[in-house]
Amino acid sequence: MNKVKPKVVLVRSTPDPDALVASAAKLCYASDTSGILEDGADSEKFVHKLFTLGHLSPIEHACFTFYIEGVSRAMTHQLVRHRLASYSQRSQRYVAHASFDYVVPPQLEGRKVVVDGEEIDAVDYFCETMVMLAQRYSRLNAALGESGEASNQDARYVLPNACETKIFVTMNARELLHFFAERLCMRAQWEIRAVAEMMFDLAKQKFPAAFRGAGPKCIKAGRCPEGKMTCGKYQEMVEKYGRA
Ligand SMILES: Cc1cc2nc3c(=O)[nH]c(=O)nc-3n(C[C@H](O)[C@H](O)[C@H](O)COP(=O)(O)OP(=O)(O)OC[C@H]3O[C@@H](n4cnc5c(N)ncnc54)[C@H](O)[C@@H]3O)c2cc1C
Repeated sequence: MNKVKPKVVLVRSTPDPDALVASAAKLCYASDTSGILEDGADSEKFVHKLFTLGHLSPIEHACFTFYIEGVSRAMTHQLVRHRLASYSQRSQRYVAHASFDYVVPPQLEGRKVVVDGEEIDAVDYFCETMVMLAQRYSRLNAALGESGEASNQDARYVLPNACETKIFVTMNARELLHFFAERLCMRAQWEIRAVAEMMFDLAKQKFPAAFRGAGPKCIKAGRCPEGKMTCGKYQEMVEKYGRA
């Protein structure tokens, strides 16, 4: 059992997304379609123009597949709420989790838990809890006959949200813009925000015309739309992500 940190790999993305998206968008207005599949020198500029006009359906043709590991089930539970995406996640039925890895919230570092009047390091306490749950999982799995899928599927009820998981996710560029708007926001939970940040860096390298000027939702809105729940860091966000 190990403490783990997130890792994000961009496994595949649509090759030459500028040319593809520009072709698709130009088709909408083309009376002469003879050169529609040719790569125009102006593709990147054209795509960025679509972005600034808010004409976003053509960027749906560009897709991105990420492999994510070293994250918690708490994180992926939030990730899979994004419905315009495809997912494949490592199963807790087919895969036994007797010695699962886990994510420790960094906010626990330096804190103390009081147990029977005694102060215990919060990270140590957290890790001990993981070990205890793994032992209980194993004992319950044995009680259920340790028969693989059939016993794993019930023993897993004692696994924690911190339990490490691995997931493939595919989103198109338009859904990614929406995902980044929601999950790069400072109101998003720290772990999904950290993963969104990694996905954003990788996607931007492959398709800068679509993702330049993207970021948390305040960037596009030109102000924070969260009202009283604002993080109060709009200027900081503009410095980090630039203006849309
Ligand atoms: C800071 C934060 C706090 C949150 N807190 C909670 C919480 O307390 N409880 C909770 O349950 N969730 C919570 N969520 C999750 C949130 O409610 C959404 O489920 C999640 O962000 C996915 O967003 P979405 O539905 O816009 O996106 P997606 O599923 O990615 O969809 C993208 C867009 O497609 C359109 N769309 C997709 N499906 C439909 C549909 N069926 N009908 C019509 N239009 C559709 C919508 O325009 C949608 O915005 C939170 C999210 C954030 C960022």
